Amino acid sequence: MVKLLDVLLLGRARFHELSLRGRVMLSQLPANLALLLVVAIIAVAAPGKLTEPAFVAGQALAVLLLMLSGSLPWQRLPYGSFLVVPFLDFVPIGLIQASASDQMPGLTFLALFPIMWVAGSGFRPRLMVPLSGAAALAMVWSPLLLAGSPDPAALAGHLLAPFMLLAVGVGTSVMTLSGMTQQARVEELLAQAERRERLLDAVLETVDVGVVVIDTQGRGTFTNTKQVEVYAAAVPAEEDGQETGMMIYRDGSEDALPPEQWALERALAGERVEHELFRLGRGPGARTVSVTARDFLDADGERAGTVLASSDVTDVVHAVRARDRFLSTLSHEFRTPLANILGYAELIADDPDLSDASRADVHVIARNAQHVTSMVDELLVVAVTGAGTAVRLPLDVAVIVREAAESFDAAGRVRGIEVRVEADGALMVLADRTGLVRVVDNLVSNALKYSGDGTEVRLSAVREGQWAVVTVEDSGIGIAEDDLEHIFTRFGRSDGVLGEDIPGTGLGLSLSKEVVEAHGGTIECTSTVGEGSTFTVRLPLRGDSRSGPSPAEEARLIGEPG
Ligand code: ADP
Repeated sequence: MVKLLDVLLLGRARFHELSLRGRVMLSQLPANLALLLVVAIIAVAAPGKLTEPAFVAGQALAVLLLMLSGSLPWQRLPYGSFLVVPFLDFVPIGLIQASASDQMPGLTFLALFPIMWVAGSGFRPRLMVPLSGAAALAMVWSPLLLAGSPDPAALAGHLLAPFMLLAVGVGTSVMTLSGMTQQARVEELLAQAERRERLLDAVLETVDVGVVVIDTQGRGTFTNTKQVEVYAAAVPAEEDGQETGMMIYRDGSEDALPPEQWALERALAGERVEHELFRLGRGPGARTVSVTARDFLDADGERAGTVLASSDVTDVVHAVRARDRFLSTLSHEFRTPLANILGYAELIADDPDLSDASRADVHVIARNAQHVTSMVDELLVVAVTGAGTAVRLPLDVAVIVREAAESFDAAGRVRGIEVRVEADGALMVLADRTGLVRVVDNLVSNALKYSGDGTEVRLSAVREGQWAVVTVEDSGIGIAEDDLEHIFTRFGRSDGVLGEDIPGTGLGLSLSKEVVEAHGGTIECTSTVGEGSTFTVRLPLRGDSRSGPSPAEEARLIGEPG
């Protein structure tokens, strides 16, 4: 009843939220109120009518119907039974119309109330709406029929009102049905959207990636469980006493990043964040995450927020670093002594005082050292082209160039070739360490191999705009212009080296080109036969070293494995 009043007076509750009984009562009420108004008007206009039996019976019947509407358990009866009430309404309305229509000519139109109720219920409209029209007709014709010998002309004269009532009924029915169809469609779309949302929730909870969605105001609108788990490592614990904010670090650094350098804040500021590595927390519980952010748009194509995905790559990063350490040992501490053995073996073999037997022995030493060198090379090639190369860590190209110069220094000295290096500052790139070391080592080893004794090989690593540029320059035999286009293809070797019988496979440069291009860089060569060659490698600098203000911090990252 309170709800009923809410609907009637305040519009707070909705009609469809009422019980069926409430709805029936509320549908009946307007007719009763109109009949009450009729009583008031008749009391003024023709008080004598108030006691006429037909008028009294009509009013009494109307009140009875209202009470019936409010007391019968409609929800337990078959749906649609409540339409009995509007059909019965035609009786009191007919009685009142018959007794008072001479004082109030429009009383027939009180039948609008039951007709609109029937049509508005949407229950079996094709049957019910014509039936209600027929009831209206019966209502206006019955007094004529009951008066006996109906005059066809009088009957015809009373056709207009029922026809108009029927027309209103049809109109109401059409509107009701279209409203119901629309409501069904909206409900279906809503159910679909809910299903999709539940599916998305299930997917986001199943994947092994932390996902957080932020709107343009920086408010989190969604966070999955994995996200909470991963970032738990960044929340300071009791023993991290001095820490106050989140413990988010650049990989390799010990200084917590200020919030404006967090992936989230940068993504919100419109910066692109793609596969960037961050370390969360300190000590053994620290995790390394690879973070990517993407904007998403609303229906109008406007930026609506950012989705941030963080995958825990701690184990992968450990494995890659272990591999890099192993390959670096293999490359430098294995290959370099081998190069020395080979160099000294050649020197001894050149000694004119050496006996033939000893020279043969020295050749055996050289052949075996050469064999082990090629085995090491093959291993490195497999490592460089293997699956692990997809993992990129921040490292300093300048350091790699300095290390290469150091490790080839001994091999150069044997032949009186000075290896000079100019590589200052930090040139941070995101790269596969083994691949990059292999590229630089290959260029330096070629420069030595294709240079005469007593010459010079110059290495440099400098910043040029957004690029880290590495050059390896020699004053060796050089490469003819025609050969330049072949040396970067597999097995491509210049005619010069083939003629001079310098050993080699023609694979090193093609592999280097593959590695450099996979890092978004370029490799090229300029050369003059007889004067020397310059190989230039360009690699894109990592985002924050481009802006350049923190080389000191970056210096600490210097490709330290582990
Ligand atoms: P390899 O040195 O094993 O033959 P690479 O792919 O490293 O294979 O080099 C391809 C070819 O490019 C070499 O065979 C040589 O003809 C030429 N080349 C590479 N570096 C130099 C250099 N520094 N000076 C002259 N020629 C070079």
